[in-house]
Amino acid sequence: MAVAVLELADGRRIPYRIAVSPRSHNIRFRLSARSGLVVTVPRGFDRSRLSAIVDGKRDWVAHHLERFAATSPSPVSLTPPREFKLLALAETWRVEYQAMPAKATGAHTAGSGRIVVAGQVENVATCHAVLHRWLARRGRDTLAPWLERLSGETGLRYAGVAIKGQQTRWGSCSARGGINLNYKLLFLPREWVRYVLVHELCHTAELNHSPRFWDLVQRFEPQAQEISATLRNARAYLPAWVLQPATA
Ligand SMILES: [Zn+2]
Repeated sequence: MAVAVLELADGRRIPYRIAVSPRSHNIRFRLSARSGLVVTVPRGFDRSRLSAIVDGKRDWVAHHLERFAATSPSPVSLTPPREFKLLALAETWRVEYQAMPAKATGAHTAGSGRIVVAGQVENVATCHAVLHRWLARRGRDTLAPWLERLSGETGLRYAGVAIKGQQTRWGSCSARGGINLNYKLLFLPREWVRYVLVHELCHTAELNHSPRFWDLVQRFEPQAQEISATLRNARAYLPAWVLQPATA
């Protein structure tokens, strides 16, 4: 299948695949979360006419992409997010994109609930990467003080905290008492995040998963068993653009 790119009215560039159907007499458009945008053309179709025809469907594509964004998580991310929710903080963020081709791309908070991504916004991977960096900063501003409060409540001391974007772990604790927390925690329900923080703090006393460790966790979080089991499926809470490694 060949691949081409459709540019939307707002400058977003949407890749699409061209499929050939021997049975079809018309051009068909299909947009799905799994396959993205697929344009099916009859066999023998003159491809030079296609981009003008696809351009004519721009509004239809834009409309359906908005619907996907509202019902995510979807397995593929064709376009940077317009909005996302950070459950742990009870926050909803709207994202605006400003094309400034000469400028290095960055994401900044532009008021309550509003993020502006400015720079080379036609590059989806770059938009995702700067939003990941924004999440890391939001994680530092919120998860670090939260850990400090819990440390005070539990009396469990840690040496330092780093906020990262690990692919497979929500948190970890080193032998020296340094705690790493994943900024993707921000997308999970608040009580689950609290559990992860408590779990890592307890590792400063017990660097293992022995019964003694679990007794300690249970003392500060009576629901530890249930939450720990639920967390195995917690990746379903992450939008596709957060699951994907940030590369750019
Ligand atoms: Zn552990």
